[in-house]
Amino acid sequence: MKKIAKNVYAETNYRGCNPGFVVTSAGVVMIDTPQMPTDAVKWREIIAKHGSVKYVINTEPHGDHYTGNYYFKGTVVAHEGTRQAILASNIDQMKERMRKTAPAEYALMKRFRFRPPTITLTKEMTLYVGDHTFKLINLPGHTPYQVAVYIPEEKTIFTSDNVFYKVPPWFQQAMPYEWLESLKRMEDMEIEVVVPGHGEVCDAGYFPEMRACVQEWVDTVNDTIKQGLALEEAINKVTILDRYQLDPEMRKMLLRFNVGRLYQVLKK
Ligand SMILES: [Zn+2]
Repeated sequence: MKKIAKNVYAETNYRGCNPGFVVTSAGVVMIDTPQMPTDAVKWREIIAKHGSVKYVINTEPHGDHYTGNYYFKGTVVAHEGTRQAILASNIDQMKERMRKTAPAEYALMKRFRFRPPTITLTKEMTLYVGDHTFKLINLPGHTPYQVAVYIPEEKTIFTSDNVFYKVPPWFQQAMPYEWLESLKRMEDMEIEVVVPGHGEVCDAGYFPEMRACVQEWVDTVNDTIKQGLALEEAINKVTILDRYQLDPEMRKMLLRFNVGRLYQVLKK
């Protein structure tokens, strides 16, 4: 765990997303929760030293950001689309997977349930907690339901998976053009510290680089469409992932997700 601003902490080494929290004069506000139960319990112990949890904000509808909600108190806040995704996710399937692959994790899941948000937003919302302001802004991109959490007093933003810092981006539900716009919007804000959804904490200088990354994927898949390639051929042709250290199975799956989604969106 790192202290990244005066009252802000984040963890970039857990499996799953980068969870963080802000210590306010009226309690702790968490941004996302650890995916793995053993990490969630460790995170809970760390946070307990800073106060009790008032709010848990989930930045997006993917399980690596909200599965850990169960292990924390506090009112859960997220986009309405994230609430719907949580309500639709299959708890038995997830527990069964954990039972088979991660017995130590499963041991902490006896009474596990998902904890969906009880307060939702669709566009923007501001939470005032103690002396801190939390601006929750829907910035579509990685999915339609991404929520950036901007804390002006700390000049810090939690971007959700609209920013992947030097790790492969995921496009499985992406809105590529909106994603580029959302990154531009963040570039115009007064930000010193950027907590990406995945990868190391960075600064606002990374936004243009992330925009170039999204644009490169869009251009590459667009080229395959212009060349008249079928989806399967396009998947075999795209080499962008070769620059990352990736397990071959993961590489195959991610290519299928990313090229599949972009091909479908861009062909229209
Ligand atoms: Zn995601």
